Amino acid sequence: NRMIAISELPKGELTQAHFTALDGDVPAAGDGEVLLRTILMSIDAANRSWMQGATYRDAVKAGDIMPTYAICEVMESKSPKLNKGDIVASESVWAEYVTRPAHKVQKLPDIRPLSNLMSVYGIAGKTAFHGLVNVAHPIAGETVLVSAAAGSVGGYVGQIAKALGCRVVGIAGGAEKCGWVVDTLGFDACADYREPGLFKALRAVCPDGVDVYFDNVGGAVLETALAVMNERGRISCCGAISQYDTDAPTGPRNLPGLVVVKRLRMEGFIVMDFAKQDATALRALQIWVNSGQIKVFEDIVEGLDSAPAALIGLLAGENKGKRMVRVGPD
Ligand code: NDP
Repeated sequence: NRMIAISELPKGELTQAHFTALDGDVPAAGDGEVLLRTILMSIDAANRSWMQGATYRDAVKAGDIMPTYAICEVMESKSPKLNKGDIVASESVWAEYVTRPAHKVQKLPDIRPLSNLMSVYGIAGKTAFHGLVNVAHPIAGETVLVSAAAGSVGGYVGQIAKALGCRVVGIAGGAEKCGWVVDTLGFDACADYREPGLFKALRAVCPDGVDVYFDNVGGAVLETALAVMNERGRISCCGAISQYDTDAPTGPRNLPGLVVVKRLRMEGFIVMDFAKQDATALRALQIWVNSGQIKVFEDIVEGLDSAPAALIGLLAGENKGKRMVRVGPD
């Protein structure tokens, strides 16, 4: 059983040297447990944030096998809840095989390809839907701004906002990505935060200001977004990827000043908060995918051993759409 452990916690930027591959025996399922074969592992900015300390889940430590969310096949079941061959989602680790208590594993609907259950019908799509619709409450005609716009969550946020009749502006790294966000994802405009002058660029592409900002990145980009918000604007705080892979975090300097003056509302959320509304989110996403209003982009990296490079690359902005690692066949 191949596994990837964190050999040392990073102080600044994450590198391959922080990981080590291990080989062990395939574990056996105990009473009430299932043996799972990993098919797909989600690669998330959150993997890096867990290395900084406890968040909404426990911190990871040196020596731990990297935690992940995974889609797996049940190979052996010692529980009446699940059968051999079932496809499930589970909290897992970077490993070919794991055992889990059956009651902690969720049987998945029969949707193919399975990767869609990791992207648009998985955490990314649900995070985008709940964080936009249930936190920021956009109204048709409003301007919605979203950072990490070519990424997994951001790409769905913009497409959902378009489907709801909003004007949508992205922020992404590099001219090529910004072009892709407009031409392929259908955003109205996209500003390159790696170029100097983001404030001016946003003023130019948001002539009516910004009513909703969906923040995936925090830091300097959030500071600039605050400056272009309209009065009574809403900021949905989804993540702070610019602050995860650094030993020198920088928060916005105009907080709380602009929040007060512009009567803004900033609200953080974790996707699980809205689990009771997941069925509504999935129904809406399915309708928009079927009508072509949402395009699904996935970035699948092959092989368990590629997981560290896949995470390092995600933090460097290599991906377009949901990044995941394929460990085994569907
Ligand atoms: P993405 O697919 O969006 O990939 C991350 C992207 O972030 C990269 O492609 C890169 O694109 C961009 N990025 C990296 N570094 C920086 C930086 N310093 N400044 C600005 N942008 C940067 O990842 P996810 O969709 O998985 O995650 C997006 C956000 O959503 C993360 O903050 C994550 O923590 C959060 N999240 C929150 C959840 C919740 O429940 N609240 C659930 C799931 C995710 P570029 O080339 O444009 O820089």
